[in-house]
Amino acid sequence: MEPGPVQIVSITEDHKFILDEKKLKEILYHHKAREKKVALVSIAGDFRKGKSFLLDFFLRYLRAKDAKDWMGKENEPLRGFDWRGGAARHTTGMIMWSEPFLMSMPDGEEVAVLLMDTQGTFDSNSTVFVNAFIFALTLLVSSVTVYNIMHNLQEDNLQHLSFFAEYGVLAIDAYQTSPFQQLTFLIRDWQFEYETPYGFAGGETVLSERLIIRPNQHHDLELVRSRLRQCFRKVNCFLMPHPGLKVTNRRDFDGKLEDIEQDFKDQLDKFVPDLFRSDNVNFVKEINGEQITSTQLFEYFRTYCAIFASGDLPSPKAMLEATAEANNLAAKAVSKEFYIRAMEQHCGGDRPYIHPSQLEALHNEVRRQSLEKFRVARKMGGEQLSQTYQQDLDNEISELYGNYKKHNDSKNVFAFSRTPTTFISCMVI
Ligand code: GDP
Ligand code: MG
Repeated sequence: MEPGPVQIVSITEDHKFILDEKKLKEILYHHKAREKKVALVSIAGDFRKGKSFLLDFFLRYLRAKDAKDWMGKENEPLRGFDWRGGAARHTTGMIMWSEPFLMSMPDGEEVAVLLMDTQGTFDSNSTVFVNAFIFALTLLVSSVTVYNIMHNLQEDNLQHLSFFAEYGVLAIDAYQTSPFQQLTFLIRDWQFEYETPYGFAGGETVLSERLIIRPNQHHDLELVRSRLRQCFRKVNCFLMPHPGLKVTNRRDFDGKLEDIEQDFKDQLDKFVPDLFRSDNVNFVKEINGEQITSTQLFEYFRTYCAIFASGDLPSPKAMLEATAEANNLAAKAVSKEFYIRAMEQHCGGDRPYIHPSQLEALHNEVRRQSLEKFRVARKMGGEQLSQTYQQDLDNEISELYGNYKKHNDSKNVFAFSRTPTTFISCMVI
């Protein structure tokens, strides 16, 4: 199947989050991502501000594997994530590219890179609420979040981050590590180039200016201002020029490079490669200071969606507890996968029958290793919590073992029923 955008989270009219677990699993358990560390690069921000349009350039960059001419041909329409100038309705929620991209880190390790688009609502009744949810989930699951903003960094952009600053402070107190990795403010249609130049340097000037605490400011935002750089391991800002009138005004604009202003393309060529730099230590998704695999990310996604399902934004404390649970669930998933893989190798569908005592010995050894794997994994939430999950893991392993035993026995019946034929053919010879 052709790779394409896949809606993994949708939001109902009454503000319920619906995670399409099957579709998410197909992506995160994709054969290219299997057992690999994962990086999730997402883009969030208001509706109709060129987010999906930009993501399609991320796709081009990842496909070109950082070749100089990654941006493509001048007359090629821009495809991938669905971006629209017209009035076409988009579905609210989160959209992931169906296929991971592989990227080599400086030490040679391959990492699975995933792209995620987000789509808020346009309807003013639910905008604030729904958009806050989408933003929260995006920040929690991504390693790199691009916060797409029009014209300038405003107070309300910081306001959206205050919940995370609060959660971040809690997590740092409890686990001495910051829960969030990279937050990149991307300011579109920057108009004051004569004062502050495009790019990261200009962005840093704007950001620092915004984060200064002044006496007459709203008290609410003090925490964000003072802690943002602590809660996110990397916060930066990029100033992007206007893409030109053909992009914004022409109905038949289909994303061709020749219709985009050179200034915009020049800055795109600085922004995109920087976002995917393999030497960026914040690129791979980490939880509690540990880099995680795409299998683990699946568990985090599920847990966060489940706590959002209630329809209320959880408190920072509830958020932290959910993270600890997801962390144990993820460790459990990895250990269980280890058990399944090892058992499949010896007694999977295509393996011959083995003696039950041999199967039991195999199970005992693999179970021991699997439980050990869980025990040594760095976990959050304390000993008692992880004991519960360890017990769950053990129960699930027992159940799996039961299935392997049955399966193995069935192979024996098969072998037995064939014996006479084999015997006869031997006799004839
Ligand atoms: P999204 O809703 O944020 O994903 O926005 P889209 O990517 O669908 O783009 C909406 C419209 O904005 C399209 O017509 C794009 O051509 C246009 N657009 C893309 N980039 C920019 C930009 O940097 N500035 C402006 N003003 N418009 C842009
Ligand atoms: Mg979009």
